[in-house]
This record gives sequence, structure tokens and C-alpha cells, in this order.
Amino acid sequence: MNYEVNGIQEMDVFNLTGQTAVITGGSKGLGLEMALALAEAGAHIVLAARTAADVAQAAAEVAEKTGVTAVGLPLDVTDSTAVDRFVMEVVERFGRIDILINNAGINIRQPITEISDENWRRVQSVNVDGVFFMCRAVVPVMKGAGYGRIINMGSALSLVGLENRVNYCTSKGAVLQLTRALALELAQTGITVNALCPGPFATELNAPLMGNAQGDAFIKRVVPMQRWAEMHEIRPAILFLASPASSFVTGTAVPIDGGWTAA
Ligand code: NAD
Repeated sequence: MNYEVNGIQEMDVFNLTGQTAVITGGSKGLGLEMALALAEAGAHIVLAARTAADVAQAAAEVAEKTGVTAVGLPLDVTDSTAVDRFVMEVVERFGRIDILINNAGINIRQPITEISDENWRRVQSVNVDGVFFMCRAVVPVMKGAGYGRIINMGSALSLVGLENRVNYCTSKGAVLQLTRALALELAQTGITVNALCPGPFATELNAPLMGNAQGDAFIKRVVPMQRWAEMHEIRPAILFLASPASSFVTGTAVPIDGGWTAA
């Protein structure tokens, strides 16, 4: 799709050729699916997840399927020193970071009285600290370039509550507020910051709810379309938020949730 930009040039606003995208938790699930979408639009891909072998294999899959340069680097997003080192390494290798998708996330489903201090810290640390550490490290790189797209993975549970999800809901609510505050802070820098808020996708994260009566009941209760999302249904939304196409969109939440948060 071609538009005139600033009255001086025509560009395909969904074309990411020559750009570099960093995706945390990109070894599987939605992270890998989004990586494939951005790679097909031409972006070089850097995947970051904890297990070196898994993330390297995922990067090889992206490169083989799309022909772009894709690397997988081991990273625990809860380790701020490692995050800073990782960002320096990406800049040394690629010279730029145009797109950051803060996708790494975990869910531990428990009623409040069963949440141990350790489980509370674990969820908040991956889902909130990890997003903060990555943004803090990448923002100076994007500011230097005068351009950037930051997409934080929220959830339908950034927008509505659910029983036995105090831990996860707290973390995803925080992700949305971090997104809004950072978007305002960066509004005049060329960097946009948005949250993608999925409903239920059939990934490992949702293994406890898949293929059983409890999961079926859950879908019927919360999703007006009464089905799981197809993995490919994340792709158009991430391509929009990660590309020049979304140039006037910042600080917002984009639900991909079959109507869940409209109820
Ligand atoms: P997934 O479990 O399939 O993948 C999660 C990824 O995060 C994995 O690659 C894992 O290795 C990585 N990860 C976990 N902890 C990490 C850490 N400390 N450092 C680096 N990487 C780490 O999950 P998914 O369903 O693909 O979820 C991706 C994101 O989307 C998460 O933030 C999740 O909360 C969010 N989300 C998912 C759904 C859904 O229905 N699947 C719905 C709403 C939001």
C-alpha cells in the first residue's frame, strides 16, 4: 500500500525491508508467529529467549522460510545486565533496532491465597520488569535514529479482570500503563509505543485450558465468537503496529480477542 509521506516520497507503509526487529520470547508461540510476519515483510529478525538451542532453531526456521537474516540469542529478560549487553550486541551486529516486541511472558493461574511470594515475583518479574528493562535499553537506540516501533504484549486481561488471575491481570494491567506513559514520554521522538492485547490463542501458555471441558467452558463464557484464535490472526495487527503504517497511533491497546473486552 503506497502513500505520500511528508509530501516528498512514496513508500509502501507495510514494507519493512532493511529494518531490524527484536522479539523477546520469540522461540515459539505468538513470538515466533509475529517474527514470521515481520520477516515476510522484509525485516531482519533477532529472537531472544532463555534457551539457546530453542531460540537458535526458531531463528533458523524464520531464515529458511522467509530468506531474511534471523538470529536467535539467549536472554533472560528479568536480568537487566544481560538485557543491556544483549541490546549492545544487536546494535553492534545490525547497526539499528527499528522494532521491539516485548513478547516474553508467563502465566501462573492461582487464587490469591495460594500465590507464593516466589510465584508473584516470577510473574511480575518476567511480564513487567522484563518489558521495562527492554524499553529502557532500546529507547536510546531508537531516539538516536529518530524512529521506532515498540509493541508490548498486553492481553485481554490488561483491560478486564478474571477470577484466579490476580497475578497475571496485575502484570498485564501494568504493561498497558507502562505503554501509555512511555508513549507520552516519546510522543515527539518518532517512536510509537502500543500494546497488543490478545484473547485466547492456542499456545503453550494456555496448555492447561486446551482440549478439555474447563477450557471449552472458559472460551464459551468469555469469548463472544466462541472459539480460540487462529495463530495467523495475530499477523495483520502486529504488521500494522510494527510498520510505518501506524505512524499516528501511539499509547493505545489493540485487542485481538473475538469480542471478549467488548462485553
Ligand atoms: P508461550 O509460552 O508460547 O511463549 C512465551 C515465550 O516467552 C517463550 O518463548 C518463552 O521461552 C519466553 N519467555 C518466558 N520467560 C522468559 C524470560 N524470562 N526471558 C526471555 N524469554 C522468556 O506464550 P504465548 O502464548 O506465545 O505468549 C506470548 C505473549 O503473549 C505473552 O506475553 C503472553 O502473556 C501474551 N498473551 C498470550 C495470549 C495467548 O492466548 N496465548 C493471550 C494474551 C496475551
